[in-house]
Amino acid sequence: MANDGPVEHGYPHLETVRAAVTALYRRLSWDTIQTFGTSVLPADVAFCDTDDLYLGAQRVARELVRHFRLPDARLIVSFREMRHAASVELAAGPEYFVELNDRFRTHRRDIGAALAHEVAHVYLHRLDLSFPGVRDNEILTDTATTYLGAGWLLLDAYREHGASSQKLGYLTPEEFGYVLAKRALVFGEDPSLWFTSPQAYTAYVKGMTLARRDGQEPPLTAAGWAGRRRYARDRRHAPAGPPQPGVRYRFSPDGGGRLRVSFPCPTCHQRIRVPVSGRVRARCALCRSVLECDT
Ligand SMILES: [Zn+2]
Ligand SMILES: [Zn+2]
Repeated sequence: MANDGPVEHGYPHLETVRAAVTALYRRLSWDTIQTFGTSVLPADVAFCDTDDLYLGAQRVARELVRHFRLPDARLIVSFREMRHAASVELAAGPEYFVELNDRFRTHRRDIGAALAHEVAHVYLHRLDLSFPGVRDNEILTDTATTYLGAGWLLLDAYREHGASSQKLGYLTPEEFGYVLAKRALVFGEDPSLWFTSPQAYTAYVKGMTLARRDGQEPPLTAAGWAGRRRYARDRRHAPAGPPQPGVRYRFSPDGGGRLRVSFPCPTCHQRIRVPVSGRVRARCALCRSVLECDT
């Protein structure tokens, strides 16, 4: 886990984040995702500067191991001077050695955030779920941490005070906000109550705007006027021409020469394909969302 450099904003990793959500649904199934309906709560990982450093870190680690249902896993937490914020040795287990940057000795409130990411590494390692390349795999890890209810801690660790700033993880604050919002929409949760950082709250609000927009893209009936107009124009020219930038639906002929449209599910981002025939109700096979479309 990295923690240096200027804070990047916006959505530079959005496609990988979306692919990570799809990968989680594929690997875990909708049923298992449902078992993560309750987030780690602030009281579970509270850590004040009067708590014993090692006992406190072990307690928070146990809480996160419990959250990810890794009953036999045991985290051994130590502190040392290092460039990264934290790291975990992914061995066969059941003991996993986690190293935290020395600065957490005096920033104990963020130990839960750092451990959340490292425990998610252990969880994904045990699932044998990974993305090729360090960068994409870290994005998968942050996305999994957040979608499964522990990543709001990472977003809340993002703080700016005048010239100084702190951020943990590889996603931008807005991307953390986006994944958190996708989760909130599925579970009817309101994580904004837990934020102690005003910058985290702002990023969550921005992420929620984008997350809602996923459900308002044509051919979904919730699409706005401009989107519907563009869709109707593209349909007239379909399936000719390359896909337009920023447009996520694609037209293609089926075997019988009739037109079909495919688009990403707004919840899990798996592509769904339906015939172009007016009003259609589709059900996402992966996340079970029912989608009202006007094709
Ligand atoms: Zn990592
Ligand atoms: Zn879906």
